[in-house]
Amino acid sequence: MNYIFGPVSSRRLGQSLGVDPIPAKTCTWNCVYCQLGKTPSYKLERKEYVPTDELIKELKHTLDLHKPGDIDWITFVGSGEPTLHSKIGEMISRTKAMTSIPVAVITNGSLLYMPEVRKALSFADAVLPTLNAGNETLYKKINRPHTSLTFQHLIEGLKAFRKEFNGKLWIEVMLIKGMNDSAEALRELAAVLKTIQPDAVHLILPSRPPTESWVSVPDQDGIMRAQAILSGIAELVNPSESHFELHDPKNPVQEILSVLNRHPMMHSEMMQALKKLDKSNDDIEHVFLDLESSGQARQIEQHGVKFWVKSNH
Ligand code: SF4
Repeated sequence: MNYIFGPVSSRRLGQSLGVDPIPAKTCTWNCVYCQLGKTPSYKLERKEYVPTDELIKELKHTLDLHKPGDIDWITFVGSGEPTLHSKIGEMISRTKAMTSIPVAVITNGSLLYMPEVRKALSFADAVLPTLNAGNETLYKKINRPHTSLTFQHLIEGLKAFRKEFNGKLWIEVMLIKGMNDSAEALRELAAVLKTIQPDAVHLILPSRPPTESWVSVPDQDGIMRAQAILSGIAELVNPSESHFELHDPKNPVQEILSVLNRHPMMHSEMMQALKKLDKSNDDIEHVFLDLESSGQARQIEQHGVKFWVKSNH
């Protein structure tokens, strides 16, 4: 599979089948917290980065392999910015035509100022854009956008999309210690969020290894401050430990590698998932040895927590 991964277990989207329409780190931003490394060169051009027909063929094949009820959401989530794909609207429509499973798009929202991008995402059932800052300076510090993408573009795009979109607009806020967890930064963010009127605000934390090693999770006070200040805007979905499930007892190594291609995983969550497959301690040890000897994965430690990452991460 080149473009489809999972289903992976997600607290917000249940069993979520991932669709990745964009080559790695093809992005309009270079976020300090990105778990995929630095953006090598910014992209603004919208084009058919991966073949639409092939992606849809893979998706159909994957859906045919699953029973009804196995998948809660089909989620377009790039290892870059999915709205850079010029045919994302067609992909969403064709997905909706082949299944009744709802479709979500996780996007940084930077291109929503373009009417054609808003139109393309209007076919989805839920759209999850990012907003971490209530002013231009902080936006540039955290998301480091392409120089032509201003804060005004981002906010105007989000507001226009809210007016046109009938599905769920769930805005993701990445909380970073010392950047957007102060009372002042959070109040400014709350004021902007109020003008957008999302259906929900999802607080998320940089709990996976970030591009910049100084990025860290706010302390308990910072998280509680964010919960307190942002809870008046919309339904607030709080951060929690993610958990991950494996589905193929015969080939867990391949399944794990396909997830590591998208994001690092905590050693503890991998252990839990392997135990759920009824693997013995010896079997689990073998999976870790196989992962290491594959040359495609390695273990690292961040803030005292063990993670597995892609070898070239
Ligand atoms: S976190 Fe998302 S939006 Fe930010 S640089 Fe990484 S892929 Fe792009």
